[in-house]
Amino acid sequence: MVIDSIKNGIVIDHIQAGRGMKLLSYLSIDNENDTVAIIMNASSKKRGKKDIIKIENVDSNSFNMDVVGLIDPDATVNIIENEEIKAKVRPTLPARVENVIKCKNPRCVTSSERGLKNIFVLNDEENREYRCVYCDEIVSMDKE
Ligand SMILES: [Zn+2]
Repeated sequence: MVIDSIKNGIVIDHIQAGRGMKLLSYLSIDNENDTVAIIMNASSKKRGKKDIIKIENVDSNSFNMDVVGLIDPDATVNIIENEEIKAKVRPTLPARVENVIKCKNPRCVTSSERGLKNIFVLNDEENREYRCVYCDEIVSMDKE
């Protein structure tokens, strides 16, 4: 499969196969002008199979690296400028995320009070568990 390389933007490589679509939904790309390509089950020397996401013309400064770390801390983020890799970033599991994970507890204050930020903090690094700061609801990103 040949996919055009992008001139400016972001390429998220080495995503664990199967996690690409989930990552894309969490990235919430709503800009109508962004060109996005997702490649699923590409062959990978490192992982056997991998997913790749390419986003054209996205501003790397406003790109939410935490989301990548949350969904797949083993992915690689390549920042492309003028068809060259300007930087390679390894995301890390974020200690705290705002408005990325939505609390599913119906009794949580975030479900009744509109405008309140959803804030989750890292609870268990090994199991990638996050905890809602308001109601202590636990979300495991491995199972999500
Ligand atoms: Zn909550």
